Amino acid sequence: MKALHTYASLEHFQQHFHSEDTCIQYLFHQKWPDGYSCPNCQHTRCYTIRSRRIPLYECQLCSHQTSLTVSTVMERSRTTLRKWFTAIWFVSRNDKGINAVQLSSLIQVTYKTAWSILHKIRRVISNYDAQSTLDGHIDAALTLYGHSHRYLSSTTISSEQHPFITAISHPSDQHSRMVKMKLVYRELITGRRLQPFAYEQFNTQHSSPNKSRLIPFTSYDQRAQAVPIQNLAKQMSTWLNNTFHGVGVLHLQMYLDEYCYRLNIEAQNISTWRHLSNLCCQVY
Ligand SMILES: [Zn+2]
Repeated sequence: MKALHTYASLEHFQQHFHSEDTCIQYLFHQKWPDGYSCPNCQHTRCYTIRSRRIPLYECQLCSHQTSLTVSTVMERSRTTLRKWFTAIWFVSRNDKGINAVQLSSLIQVTYKTAWSILHKIRRVISNYDAQSTLDGHIDAALTLYGHSHRYLSSTTISSEQHPFITAISHPSDQHSRMVKMKLVYRELITGRRLQPFAYEQFNTQHSSPNKSRLIPFTSYDQRAQAVPIQNLAKQMSTWLNNTFHGVGVLHLQMYLDEYCYRLNIEAQNISTWRHLSNLCCQVY
């Protein structure tokens, strides 16, 4: 199959993925890069049953049947693979992402279906994020989503502001720069500060044990050092507001993960489309 890369425009993307068959071939290659392997017995020969929209593969040794979408985000979906792939491509774009209203119009599905597709893609991203840890020297600070982007400019945060930790690991020979944004309970904030315990908890959950050193910028004196972190949180807030016209706290964490995911994959110098489509084609 043709080398896979980032597609510069929707037209370019759709020219390549011009049919369901092309998408099936791509999915097959993602699932079995070395050719078919029975998930039950690892036998490498199968019968292809094409009576369905997406083929079934029946093992020639044990008769186990499997499909390309089983246990992936696309399992049991009635939406075509081409529409799924187009949605994944839109989410993978490093500049914007996409909201459900735009997606429903672009791929001609209902708003509910578009929302569900995007939600499932975000779940894949959040699962991936949960398995990735920050390494090396990490700077972290308390940041806010909501009304004011300013760094805890008042003595307390309002109920319309959602606090989260933004952490950035410095690039080194071993790893590229990586970003995480994780919501924190407002009960852990006293006045302007997040309790040190919350940073420790963040470090335990999201950093490599023995391979990381997290420095929280908590005091007034450290505010200048926290500027890059605050700027990043501000850019994320602008993206949320421009693309989604604001997001409630219920799903906010997934949007934070989506934002960080694109930055992190881009920092590794690999195609976000390639990485995200691979994640979505895998069992999760
Ligand atoms: Zn088998």
